[in-house]
Amino acid sequence: MDLSDLQKRLSSGKLFHAYIVTGGDADARKAAGELIARAAVCSGSGDVPCGVCRDCRKVQRGVHPDVELIAREEGAREHTVDAMRAVRARAAVLPNEARRSVYIILDADAMNPQAQNAMLKVFEEPPAHAVFVLLADNPQRLLETVRSRCETVNLTPARPAGDPETAESAGKFVAAAASGDDLALVRALGAVEKLSRVELPDFLDAARREALASLGKRGGMTRERLSEFTKALDEADKMAAVNVSAGHIAGMLLAGLCNK
Ligand SMILES: [Zn+2]
Repeated sequence: MDLSDLQKRLSSGKLFHAYIVTGGDADARKAAGELIARAAVCSGSGDVPCGVCRDCRKVQRGVHPDVELIAREEGAREHTVDAMRAVRARAAVLPNEARRSVYIILDADAMNPQAQNAMLKVFEEPPAHAVFVLLADNPQRLLETVRSRCETVNLTPARPAGDPETAESAGKFVAAAASGDDLALVRALGAVEKLSRVELPDFLDAARREALASLGKRGGMTRERLSEFTKALDEADKMAAVNVSAGHIAGMLLAGLCNK
């Protein structure tokens, strides 16, 4: 599934016990991992993650006691079997505050085979409260048995030639859309009209990532705004795929997002 499928499923309450998040860059993968974590621990009502409850806010600040980011030991090239056994043991314990506990394994493709086998046991029979998120640049380094037990979330592939100007325009666009300032939105979309057909998909991808990363942050998207924004971007993607001009797409984005 891609990022928008993930958002849809999470907001409808569909949550798996184990995910592999791949594609995109490390920051995008981490943002998607945190999105899953917020959805898993959210104590708000309605769509999850709500972005405003105590649990969502703690995940955003990186202080939720039931959401653990697991990095390799300092200087180590691999996640060791001992470290993964320790994760497995912690996952067997009930969460402290939230309904669930979430283990986000950074560079999960650096788990050596023994470490992966240690985790395989817990993927086969996960504790009801535990959610595992494996962030992996090279998921093919994960054992087939591990992959087959995880839901794979494939983010848009990173574009190595990512133009900093496109990223900057996308950042401005997201900030303007989040602020609800229609004039800022008009200005931000002025830059979009000038994009070529090659640049436009990059811009839309960057905007999607920026918007997700800004969710619930100061000056960032609220959950409601992100949902509107994602719908507008989905529409823009469809138009871009059939070669509608950047000017038309900018107009459609403006109509969809301005407060009138
Ligand atoms: Zn929440």
